[in-house]
Amino acid sequence: RLPLNSNMEQRKGLRLILFPMPLQGHLNPMLELANLLHHKGFSITIIHTQFNSLNPSTYPHFTFHSIPVALSQAEVSTSDILAFISLLNVKCSEPFRECLARLLSDNQEPVACLISDLLFHFTQPVAESLKLPRILLRTSAAFSFVAYAAFPLLLEKGYLPIQDSRLEEPVIELPPLKVKDLPVLKTMDPEKYYELVSGLKKETEASYGIIFNTFEDLEGSSLAKIRQEFNIPIFPIGPFHKCFPAASSSSSSSSLLSQDQSCIPWLNSQAPKSVIYVSFGSIAAISEAQFLEMAWGLANSIQPFLWVIRPGLIHGSEWLEPLPSGFLEALNGRAHIVKWAPQKEVLAHPSVGVFWTHNGWNSTLESICEGVPMICMPCLSDQMANARCVSDVWKVGLQLEHGMKRGEIERTVRKIMVEKEGEEIRERIFQLMEKANVCIKQGGSSYQSLEGLVKHILSLEK
Ligand code: UDP
Repeated sequence: RLPLNSNMEQRKGLRLILFPMPLQGHLNPMLELANLLHHKGFSITIIHTQFNSLNPSTYPHFTFHSIPVALSQAEVSTSDILAFISLLNVKCSEPFRECLARLLSDNQEPVACLISDLLFHFTQPVAESLKLPRILLRTSAAFSFVAYAAFPLLLEKGYLPIQDSRLEEPVIELPPLKVKDLPVLKTMDPEKYYELVSGLKKETEASYGIIFNTFEDLEGSSLAKIRQEFNIPIFPIGPFHKCFPAASSSSSSSSLLSQDQSCIPWLNSQAPKSVIYVSFGSIAAISEAQFLEMAWGLANSIQPFLWVIRPGLIHGSEWLEPLPSGFLEALNGRAHIVKWAPQKEVLAHPSVGVFWTHNGWNSTLESICEGVPMICMPCLSDQMANARCVSDVWKVGLQLEHGMKRGEIERTVRKIMVEKEGEEIRERIFQLMEKANVCIKQGGSSYQSLEGLVKHILSLEK
């Protein structure tokens, strides 16, 4: 365990058991939360799956327990993310129960509660049967949570199943969402969705609270709606990775892919705010045709670009094969391509001028925290709702509304990098970044909410 340093609060003699969903966008915030709560004096035990397992040696101050949940190659398909999450729920259920029961009877520090990813709904009956309070971590935005919770209403109002002829219509009940932004798979039977969402709602209501990686100044109205609808405590304590420096410096340790550090010297050689950083996170995938439009759009934009091309990003390709031969050489060092980047460091680099993102919630929040304007190209689930907030609510980015078209990409880059519109966007995201900095300082909304969470956890002790 790490020695108690002057920054850390008195150890509380209490243990928290954390159970992250084994996907990159869920592991990062859970581990950041773990760091925060450890800093607050709790001992941390992490239960993780063999599939996408974490490396315990990068967190010597936590205790790790691995449960035997491995997935076959065929099962590791995130193309239908809902089916994948359901499968994980089924596969984890028994091994998790056994592991938790063992931990509760091991005569170590008493366990105050379980903090589980909200999408692990099976943890509700498990925790209940073991009489352990369960708090949930929602790793996405409060707004998309509101959108999911509204599904029964949307079904009743006829928005679901989504019809192609209505994609551009506004969803009156969830402004400023359009029908095409709803976090729903077109192929999924709406009744199944209904079942899933009402189950999730019941299991959420049975919890001892929800922790959100967001902050009041960003999502105050969605948080207010959630408080109105759910009779449980709500703790918006984000942005987690900014809460204290130790948490952000260790955030790379939950990375499942190794981060290519060659980005940093390359960025050092570029002019301030000149670089387009392009990354679509860990799950989104695009077609070869879309990839080529991206490549030409970026090449024609004249700006330097740092492009994360994750193996698996392009359907049917291993890596860069679809690029025309000589494409990169012709750019003369204006492009730098990596398989995975140290994203937080990249976004904090003074050379980065814009982030072309898929609007996963972590990426969106990380961009806001560094004051980097966004070009939005959401691909699935909650990403469309996040992108709609970026472009239409906070107005800190522009969407590629008509998909990947090289001309539109070039025009959008120009708008953000050189035109007046871009200047205004930059000014707005700078103000939002300031608010993110303030909310985690003493007296700020997230700071106070974190204090509230600590008190709440201490009150759970029997
Ligand atoms: N990330 C990274 N390197 C990359 C791309 C992404 O470290 O090259 C991190 C990023 O900082 C974020 C997470 O991976 O914390 C992705 O989460 P997000 O919610 O944005 O997207 P998801 O992967 O869940 O679609």
